[in-house]
Amino acid sequence: MARCDQGYLCEVCGDEVEEIVDSDLYLSYVVGLVPAGVLLSRPERHIRCNPSQAQFIVDPEFPPVTVDGPFGKAALDPAFVGEQEQLFTRGWRRLREVSGAGLHFLEYPLPEFRVVADEDEEAGGNE
Ligand SMILES: [Zn+2]
Repeated sequence: MARCDQGYLCEVCGDEVEEIVDSDLYLSYVVGLVPAGVLLSRPERHIRCNPSQAQFIVDPEFPPVTVDGPFGKAALDPAFVGEQEQLFTRGWRRLREVSGAGLHFLEYPLPEFRVVADEDEEAGGNE
């Protein structure tokens, strides 16, 4: 099986980001923070190497990440933290679903962030 879509290096620690479930970039993508069009031009990172985002993943399968200081969950508005936890935990579970599932990458995002293919057509008309 081709693995040419993998093998990107983490810009934080320099190690390879081997699996989509470790990818902060794809996590950002499935929760709608990174549009599909720039996915391949963004730097890759491990989820754990971006702790300010990783701290919001709350799942028994994910080793918890704690952030101290002004961007840590303890310092943030609890309502905001709750929303972010829901979003990023769902996003991370989505990465586990799509990992090895053979989906097109446009199908990776959570349903509310998935782009309907037809919407791209509207932008056409000027080359
Ligand atoms: Zn890393």
